[in-house]
Amino acid sequence: MSKGLLIIYTGPSGVGKGTIRKQLLKLNPNLKLSCSATTRAPREGEINGVDYYFVTREEFDQMIENNEFLEYTEYVGNKYGTIKSVVRDMLDEGYDVLLEIEVDGFKNIKKLYPDALSIFILPPSREELIERLRTRGTESGEEVEARIKQAEYELSQAGKFDYKVINENIKYSTNEILSIIADEKEKRN
Ligand code: 5GP
Repeated sequence: MSKGLLIIYTGPSGVGKGTIRKQLLKLNPNLKLSCSATTRAPREGEINGVDYYFVTREEFDQMIENNEFLEYTEYVGNKYGTIKSVVRDMLDEGYDVLLEIEVDGFKNIKKLYPDALSIFILPPSREELIERLRTRGTESGEEVEARIKQAEYELSQAGKFDYKVINENIKYSTNEILSIIADEKEKRN
Protein backbone atom coordinates (compact mmCIF):
# COMPACT_ATOMS: atom_id res chain seq x y z
CA MET A 1 0.00 0.00 0.00
CA SER A 2 1.45 3.37 -0.93
CA LYS A 3 1.79 5.98 1.80
CA GLY A 4 -0.72 8.78 1.87
CA LEU A 5 -0.21 12.46 1.14
CA LEU A 6 0.27 14.93 3.97
CA ILE A 7 -1.76 18.09 3.43
CA ILE A 8 -1.26 21.27 5.43
CA TYR A 9 -4.55 23.15 5.47
CA THR A 10 -4.39 26.68 6.86
CA GLY A 11 -6.34 29.91 6.88
CA PRO A 12 -7.25 32.68 9.30
CA SER A 13 -9.83 32.14 12.00
CA GLY A 14 -13.34 32.71 10.65
CA VAL A 15 -12.50 31.91 7.00
CA GLY A 16 -14.69 28.80 6.93
CA LYS A 17 -11.98 26.13 7.22
CA GLY A 18 -14.06 23.89 9.46
CA THR A 19 -17.10 23.94 7.17
CA ILE A 20 -15.01 23.18 4.09
CA ARG A 21 -13.12 20.45 5.97
CA LYS A 22 -16.37 18.65 6.84
CA GLN A 23 -17.32 18.61 3.14
CA LEU A 24 -13.85 17.45 2.09
CA LEU A 25 -13.98 14.52 4.51
CA LYS A 26 -17.49 13.61 3.40
CA LEU A 27 -16.65 13.68 -0.31
CA ASN A 28 -13.21 12.07 -0.18
CA PRO A 29 -13.23 8.85 1.88
CA ASN A 30 -9.46 8.49 1.48
CA LEU A 31 -8.93 11.76 3.37
CA LYS A 32 -8.69 11.81 7.17
CA LEU A 33 -8.35 14.69 9.61
CA SER A 34 -5.46 14.57 12.03
CA CYS A 35 -7.16 15.20 15.35
CA SER A 36 -4.97 17.62 17.33
CA ALA A 37 -4.80 18.09 21.07
CA THR A 38 -5.82 21.47 22.46
CA THR A 39 -6.22 23.19 25.79
CA ARG A 40 -9.06 25.31 24.35
CA ALA A 41 -12.56 24.62 25.69
CA PRO A 42 -14.89 22.78 23.28
CA ARG A 43 -17.30 24.95 21.26
CA GLU A 44 -20.92 23.91 21.04
CA GLY A 45 -21.20 20.77 18.93
CA GLU A 46 -17.50 19.89 19.03
CA ILE A 47 -16.75 16.28 19.91
CA ASN A 48 -13.75 15.05 21.85
CA GLY A 49 -11.69 12.74 19.65
CA VAL A 50 -13.33 14.02 16.45
CA ASP A 51 -12.70 17.76 16.34
CA TYR A 52 -9.91 17.78 18.91
CA TYR A 53 -8.65 15.90 21.90
CA PHE A 54 -9.58 18.41 24.59
CA VAL A 55 -6.95 18.26 27.33
CA THR A 56 -5.91 20.27 30.36
CA ARG A 57 -2.75 22.39 30.36
CA GLU A 58 -1.13 19.80 32.60
CA GLU A 59 -2.01 16.97 30.22
CA PHE A 60 -0.71 19.00 27.28
CA ASP A 61 2.59 19.69 29.06
CA GLN A 62 2.88 15.99 29.84
CA MET A 63 2.42 15.20 26.14
CA ILE A 64 5.23 17.65 25.29
CA GLU A 65 7.38 15.96 27.92
CA ASN A 66 6.61 12.52 26.40
CA ASN A 67 7.62 13.81 22.94
CA GLU A 68 4.17 13.00 21.56
CA PHE A 69 3.89 16.01 19.25
CA LEU A 70 5.15 16.50 15.69
CA GLU A 71 4.72 20.21 16.36
CA TYR A 72 2.80 22.39 18.78
CA THR A 73 2.12 26.06 19.27
CA GLU A 74 0.30 28.62 21.36
CA TYR A 75 -2.51 30.44 19.57
CA VAL A 76 -4.46 33.25 21.21
CA GLY A 77 -3.84 31.94 24.71
CA ASN A 78 -4.36 28.22 24.08
CA LYS A 79 -2.06 25.40 23.09
CA TYR A 80 -2.56 23.19 20.04
CA GLY A 81 -0.46 20.22 18.95
CA THR A 82 -0.28 17.66 16.14
CA ILE A 83 0.04 14.16 17.57
CA LYS A 84 2.81 12.11 15.94
CA SER A 85 1.17 8.69 16.27
CA VAL A 86 -2.16 9.91 14.82
CA VAL A 87 -0.48 11.22 11.65
CA ARG A 88 1.94 8.34 11.18
CA ASP A 89 -0.70 5.63 11.61
CA MET A 90 -3.05 7.19 9.04
CA LEU A 91 -0.27 7.83 6.50
CA ASP A 92 0.97 4.26 6.91
CA GLU A 93 -2.54 2.97 6.28
CA GLY A 94 -2.48 4.83 2.95
CA TYR A 95 -4.83 7.68 3.89
CA ASP A 96 -4.22 11.27 2.85
CA VAL A 97 -4.00 13.29 6.05
CA LEU A 98 -5.31 16.80 6.55
CA LEU A 99 -3.48 18.92 9.11
CA GLU A 100 -5.72 21.85 9.94
CA ILE A 101 -3.07 24.03 11.57
CA GLU A 102 -1.99 27.65 11.80
CA VAL A 103 1.00 29.30 10.11
CA ASP A 104 3.71 28.41 12.65
CA GLY A 105 2.62 24.78 12.46
CA PHE A 106 2.85 24.98 8.66
CA LYS A 107 6.45 26.21 8.91
CA ASN A 108 7.43 23.49 11.36
CA ILE A 109 5.76 20.69 9.41
CA LYS A 110 7.44 21.86 6.17
CA LYS A 111 10.81 21.39 7.86
CA LEU A 112 9.90 17.83 8.82
CA TYR A 113 7.99 16.94 5.63
CA PRO A 114 9.26 19.16 2.78
CA ASP A 115 7.00 17.31 0.32
CA ALA A 116 3.80 18.07 2.21
CA LEU A 117 1.18 19.82 0.10
CA SER A 118 0.13 23.19 1.53
CA ILE A 119 -3.15 24.98 0.93
CA PHE A 120 -4.17 28.37 2.34
CA ILE A 121 -7.81 29.47 2.48
CA LEU A 122 -8.36 33.18 1.87
CA PRO A 123 -11.48 35.19 2.64
CA PRO A 124 -13.16 37.10 -0.23
CA SER A 125 -11.99 40.25 1.57
CA ARG A 126 -10.37 41.27 4.81
CA GLU A 127 -13.52 43.18 5.75
CA GLU A 128 -15.76 40.13 5.34
CA LEU A 129 -13.45 38.08 7.52
CA ILE A 130 -13.49 40.65 10.32
CA GLU A 131 -17.27 40.92 10.09
CA ARG A 132 -17.63 37.14 10.30
CA LEU A 133 -15.33 36.89 13.32
CA ARG A 134 -17.20 39.64 15.12
CA THR A 135 -20.63 38.15 14.48
CA ARG A 136 -20.17 34.37 14.75
CA GLY A 137 -20.47 34.52 18.53
CA THR A 138 -18.16 31.64 19.44
CA GLU A 139 -15.59 33.82 21.24
CA SER A 140 -15.57 36.66 23.75
CA GLY A 141 -14.93 40.22 22.51
CA GLU A 142 -11.36 40.18 23.72
CA GLU A 143 -10.61 36.88 22.02
CA VAL A 144 -12.23 38.05 18.78
CA GLU A 145 -9.90 41.07 18.68
CA ALA A 146 -6.88 38.83 19.34
CA ARG A 147 -8.00 36.50 16.53
CA ILE A 148 -8.36 39.46 14.14
CA LYS A 149 -4.81 40.54 14.93
CA GLN A 150 -3.59 37.00 14.38
CA ALA A 151 -5.55 36.82 11.11
CA GLU A 152 -3.70 39.88 9.76
CA TYR A 153 -0.40 38.08 10.37
CA GLU A 154 -1.65 34.84 8.83
CA LEU A 155 -2.91 36.60 5.69
CA SER A 156 0.56 38.12 5.23
CA GLN A 157 2.00 34.56 5.07
CA ALA A 158 -0.37 33.17 2.42
CA GLY A 159 2.23 33.56 -0.37
CA LYS A 160 4.36 30.83 1.21
CA PHE A 161 1.78 28.12 0.49
CA ASP A 162 1.63 25.91 -2.64
CA TYR A 163 -2.01 26.86 -3.32
CA LYS A 164 -4.35 29.65 -2.26
CA VAL A 165 -8.10 29.11 -2.44
CA ILE A 166 -10.50 32.04 -2.00
CA ASN A 167 -13.56 30.94 -0.07
CA GLU A 168 -16.33 32.77 -1.95
CA ASN A 169 -18.57 29.72 -1.83
CA ILE A 170 -18.19 26.53 0.22
CA LYS A 171 -19.12 24.20 -2.62
CA TYR A 172 -16.67 25.76 -5.10
CA SER A 173 -13.86 25.92 -2.57
CA THR A 174 -14.43 22.29 -1.61
CA ASN A 175 -14.34 21.17 -5.23
CA GLU A 176 -11.24 23.22 -5.93
CA ILE A 177 -9.41 21.61 -3.02
CA LEU A 178 -10.53 18.11 -4.03
CA SER A 179 -9.12 18.77 -7.53
CA ILE A 180 -5.85 20.11 -6.14
CA ILE A 181 -5.44 16.97 -4.02
CA ALA A 182 -6.26 14.66 -6.95
CA ASP A 183 -3.84 16.51 -9.27
CA GLU A 184 -1.04 16.50 -6.74
CA LYS A 185 -1.47 12.80 -6.07
CA GLU A 186 -1.30 12.07 -9.76
CA LYS A 187 1.84 14.21 -10.14
CA ARG A 188 3.53 12.46 -7.24
CA ASN A 189 2.75 8.97 -8.47
P1 5GP B 1 -9.59 27.00 16.71
O1 5GP B 1 -9.48 27.42 18.15
O2 5GP B 1 -10.25 28.05 15.87
O3 5GP B 1 -10.15 25.62 16.54
O4 5GP B 1 -8.08 26.90 16.18
C1 5GP B 1 -7.22 28.00 16.23
C2 5GP B 1 -6.10 27.79 15.22
O5 5GP B 1 -5.24 26.74 15.63
C3 5GP B 1 -6.60 27.43 13.82
O6 5GP B 1 -5.84 28.16 12.86
C4 5GP B 1 -6.29 25.95 13.74
O7 5GP B 1 -6.11 25.52 12.40
C5 5GP B 1 -5.00 25.88 14.53
N1 5GP B 1 -4.65 24.54 15.01
C6 5GP B 1 -5.48 23.53 15.35
N2 5GP B 1 -4.78 22.45 15.72
C7 5GP B 1 -3.47 22.77 15.58
C8 5GP B 1 -2.25 22.04 15.78
O8 5GP B 1 -2.20 20.89 16.16
N3 5GP B 1 -1.10 22.72 15.52
C9 5GP B 1 -1.07 24.02 15.10
N4 5GP B 1 0.11 24.57 14.86
N5 5GP B 1 -2.21 24.71 14.89
C10 5GP B 1 -3.38 24.10 15.14
